[in-house]
Order: sequence, then structure tokens, then C-alpha cells
Amino acid sequence: MTSSQQPPADFRDPRFGFETRAIHAGQQPDAATGAVVTPVYMTSTYVHSEPGVYNGYDYSRAGNPTRDAYETCLANLEGARFGFAFASGCIGTTTVMHLLQQGDHVVCCDDMYGGTYRLFETVFRKQGLDFSYVDLRDADALEAAMRPETRMVWIESPTNPLMKLVDIARVAQIAHASGARLMVDNTFMSPYFQKPLLLGADLVLHSTTKYVNGHSDLIGGIVVTDDDALQEQLDFLHRSIGGIQSTFDSYLCMRSVKTLAVRMRAHEDNATAVAQFLEAHPAIDWVAYPGLTSHPQYELACRQTSGHGGMLSISVKGGLEAARRVMARVQVFTLAESLGGVESLIEHPGLMTHASLSREQQRKVGITDGLLRLSVGIETQADLLADLEQALR
Ligand SMILES: *Cc1c(COP(=O)(O)O)cnc(C)c1O
Repeated sequence: MTSSQQPPADFRDPRFGFETRAIHAGQQPDAATGAVVTPVYMTSTYVHSEPGVYNGYDYSRAGNPTRDAYETCLANLEGARFGFAFASGCIGTTTVMHLLQQGDHVVCCDDMYGGTYRLFETVFRKQGLDFSYVDLRDADALEAAMRPETRMVWIESPTNPLMKLVDIARVAQIAHASGARLMVDNTFMSPYFQKPLLLGADLVLHSTTKYVNGHSDLIGGIVVTDDDALQEQLDFLHRSIGGIQSTFDSYLCMRSVKTLAVRMRAHEDNATAVAQFLEAHPAIDWVAYPGLTSHPQYELACRQTSGHGGMLSISVKGGLEAARRVMARVQVFTLAESLGGVESLIEHPGLMTHASLSREQQRKVGITDGLLRLSVGIETQADLLADLEQALR
């Protein structure tokens, strides 16, 4: 090194912008070869120079350099130090629930991802955990739901599919006052638009299947924390339960994160145009999108998030029959579950993503026959609007 060369920058430094950190945090040129892109370390095991002496890695369930780089990068984007990449969002959830013990109680928002609800009710209730589901649009309703044995508060904001918001900072205060941890499923917003840890949450989960990977070509999850005690417990559970993200899928997610900011801006742009178009359309009852001034919590959305994302739900006039007609007629929008990819998707929560809820539970949270959920992709905006126009005609 000549004297004029600078030491390499640490791109985890929060003085670097989001886009810079998304591209560089955790990812230095490869020390062995100079490769600019972090190599895909396809190995299950690592050499010991003598028993128990090795270069940081001994077995890839416990640690892999590619996965480490990705975990560091995503944790950094959430404003944290520790990330744990999982083979799916659901095994991330499952691993987090192992922080709890028989007899513990969890308060959840009442309008949540159907698969999380199913896991809590059919798997973890049998293990002796108890769950309450509360409409947390009124954050103070949490106070009444807290019990001495409440150890965790589990929320999504916006909720799925009705795009209700939860005041994360307020809920964090209430949870902490009773000694409970706050977990935020941040899948819908991505760290580009919302950083729950900076609002007081203890843990953040993503189904990286959605916006973080963004290309609808893998299943993944990540859990992030900045808390040393939680990091120690999660590190143990991650390697012991073993629901790790594969090396190659870690690489794909890390590659995708490099374009997260530009994708999220494009998703938001298109979703805003679609929401405004549908709100003015005579075949639509209402549109739930946090970026519309008609959203009852528009002010909270502007305070808590730096943008409004690409998800919206609509109520079509004419109930199930009308909703079925729209689903049959769209051509650019694809009828499919999931969300957050570059392609636009449409689905019917009552019949598809939230079919595991009973009709009564569906009605209670507001999932009706005419409800459709749209994941607005980054195709040409005019094509999306024209597609909806012809489908609603
Ligand atoms: C998809 C999803 C999950 C579950 O993640 P998988 O990757 O499908 O296991 C959890 N929460 C939300 C909000 C989701 O959309």
C-alpha cells in the first residue's frame, strides 16, 4: 500500500446512505482473490489446522461467509448489528417463538399474515403458549390485553391484508413497561420505508420471499436485532434448530438487496397511481393504501414510514361475483398469492391467503367477499392502469 491510499471504508457506518450500505455493507472485496462480489462459499465444512483450530468457520449450519455478509448487510439496513437468515419467514417465526416458554402469553395484532396465525394457533398453542389478537390501531388497547405473563407483542404494520397501521413507538413503550419484547414483521414496508428497531422494537422479521428478494424466485426469512441478549439466544436457536437460509439463496438475497431502494421507489410510484385510479373508479367501494389522504391513519403513515410501499387492498362493488370477474379478466396482473416481486399480483384474501381463518374471524377483521389484495409491481405504469381499467369495465 502506498502512503496515498486510504484504509478501506467500513460501509456499516450509518453516515453512508441507505443505497450505499445496501451495496457495500458487510461486503469487502474478497481477501483471497480480489473478487469485487462476495463469493458463493458452497461448502458444508471447513479445515481445522489441528483439532478445534480453524479460521472462524467450522460448519455451514453454524456459519457461512456468504450468509454472514448478507446477514450483516440486512441487519445494517434495519439499523442493527445482528441478522439471522432463515430458509423461510415461517421458520424465522418458529425460531423466534422458541425464545418463549410454556405458559407465556403473546399479544398480536388481529389482522395478520394467515400463515403466522396458523402457526401460533395450531402449533404453538399446543406447546403451551397463549395468544390474544387485538385491533391495535388503538395502541392503548394493548394495555388492556397485557397480562403478567405477556412476554412478547407481535405486530405487523401495515397489517395484511387491510393495511391497518400500528403506532410502533407507542406499542414499544407499552410492551417495555410490562417487560415484554416487541417483534415487528416488517415484510410489507421493507427496511427502505420503515425501520422498526429505530422506533423501539426489539426484533424485526422479514419474509425475504417478498420485497427483500423481490424477484419471486426463492423462499426466505430474516430476523434482525440490536440487542446483545437476544443475539446470543437467537444465535444458539438458529444453529441448533437449523432453519438456515442456504448459501446460494443468501447470495441471491444479497444481490437483490443492492436494488431494494430503486425497486421500492418504483413500487411506490406505481402503487400510488393505481390507488388513485381505483379510488376514483365507480366499480370500487374503497381503497386501503396508507399513501392516500383518505386512509384513516394517513398522518401516522407519514410520521412512521418514509414511504407507503406497493401493497393495497380494494373492495369491489358486487361482492364475490364481481371480484371473480376482475381476477378472471386481468392480464398484466397475475392471479397468485405472495407479494413484493417485480411483477404485479392480485389475489382474493378470503379464498386464498387468509383461507385458514374461519368465516367468522375473516368477518371480524374485515375480510369480505369483495376484497382483493394487489401487490403492485414495477411494470410500465400505463400498462397496469390499462389492465385494471379493462378488467373493471
Ligand atoms: C409471506 C409472509 C410471511 C411468511 O413468510 P414465508 O417466507 O412464506 O415463510 C410472514 N409474514 C408476512 C407479512 C408475509 O407476507
